[in-house]
Amino acid sequence: MAFLQQDRYNPPRQYSLLKSGNPNNMGLFRLLILVAIIWAIYALVRRFRDRRASIAPSRSKPEIGQMVRCRQCGLHVPEQEAFRRGEDWFCSAEHRDQADG
Ligand SMILES: [Zn+2]
Repeated sequence: MAFLQQDRYNPPRQYSLLKSGNPNNMGLFRLLILVAIIWAIYALVRRFRDRRASIAPSRSKPEIGQMVRCRQCGLHVPEQEAFRRGEDWFCSAEHRDQADG
């Protein structure tokens, strides 16, 4: 009877559990769940940010491109409104023509 009691207190299952690799699988599963949770939080934060950005008056700031300097008079004008000839920029067509002549 003493042998049976010892077997109950020290069951060989613990060894089989360690050898079967189940703890590792559980760890991987937990890691996957953790990653999924982090991804969900990140997605929520990102969605919230996008919503705030869309509400914010972004139209008040038109897309101002690079400021270029008129080669003729030195005036700085947005690239969209400037006149270009080669690599030179001009504030108006007149200055462009003047530089051309
Ligand atoms: Zn000019």
